[in-house]
Amino acid sequence: MMKEFDVVIIGAGPGGMTSALYASRANLSVVMLDRGLYGGQMNNTAAIENYTGFKSVMGPDLAKDMYKSSTQFGAKYAYGVVESIEDHGRYKIVHTDSGDYQATVVIIATGSKNRKLGIPGENEYAGKGVSYCAVCDGNFFRNKKVIVVGGGNSAISEGLYLSHLVAQVVVIHRRDQLRADKVYQKRAFANPKMKFVWNSNVTKINGDGKKVTGVEVRNKKTGKTSHLTTDGIFIYIGNVPMTSAFKNLKITDAKGWIKSNDQMETRIPGIYAIGDVRENQLRQIATAVGDGGIAGQNAYEYIQSLNDSKN
Ligand code: NAP
Repeated sequence: MMKEFDVVIIGAGPGGMTSALYASRANLSVVMLDRGLYGGQMNNTAAIENYTGFKSVMGPDLAKDMYKSSTQFGAKYAYGVVESIEDHGRYKIVHTDSGDYQATVVIIATGSKNRKLGIPGENEYAGKGVSYCAVCDGNFFRNKKVIVVGGGNSAISEGLYLSHLVAQVVVIHRRDQLRADKVYQKRAFANPKMKFVWNSNVTKINGDGKKVTGVEVRNKKTGKTSHLTTDGIFIYIGNVPMTSAFKNLKITDAKGWIKSNDQMETRIPGIYAIGDVRENQLRQIATAVGDGGIAGQNAYEYIQSLNDSKN
């Protein structure tokens, strides 16, 4: 049976939850659909220090607080893997693996997922030493040696988090300079447990069949390949958009990020896109929350304008 709401929000990360808060507070019926736990990437983030109002907060804790706040005016949260959206002008149908939804407004807030290295051993040892989440898996490596791949904010902030648990963190980066914010760089370079391997790519993950034992690393400048022993490897090399379900709508750029304007409108009236899934320079909790507020408010304005045009 088709479930009907004024607004269907796809994705319950910080952006989606903020849209839910704004739209439900404006008395619209709202459901947030998610394929997993609400909170999105906040669940994989240790300390968040750049969200106003908190000196430092654990990602999963902030996710819980946002969820409580976003559902206080009646917004619902439901499980569903969205397969496609059909645009029928004044209404949209959202197809999921657990039923269909009809809505006047759809807000896409699906975010992005971890980019993979795509090297031998990565899939084979996933969960056996290969991880994309320090908060989830760091504890398994207490007093052991781990490698972090990448040079962005995720790699360095999660490397710093890991340094409180493990004996050593070796950061392997493909250039000779980090992309991460200076505040993280300063802390990482001053951290005695953190070491850096520059200008290098991890080309293979080795193991004994049960767990990771080491990696092969190729220095881009010398061409030399070396073997580093490790108990675990945390991969933080950026993200790719989660937009495969929306291909038919032709709202993405060549790389798959959704194009939405400063009102969060896509080219299709009634379909908005917010947060990390947008074609955007800055991907932060603060920007996702800002986008979410705009889309939630615009959902109300859009529905009002449709109602006015009927009268
Ligand atoms: P990112 O900023 O895109 O950085 C990805 C890093 O991985 C870069 O250093 C990049 O190298 C490297 N890389 C990319 N592809 C690679 C490959 N195939 N092999 C090896 N290395 C590769 O991604 P992110 O760190 O996950 O951050 C994503 C977004 O979230 C960013 O906007 C970031 O600012 C934000 N974020 C913010 C915070 C914070 O403010 N506290 C924390 C986490 C994330 P190059 O440098 O050579 O390109």
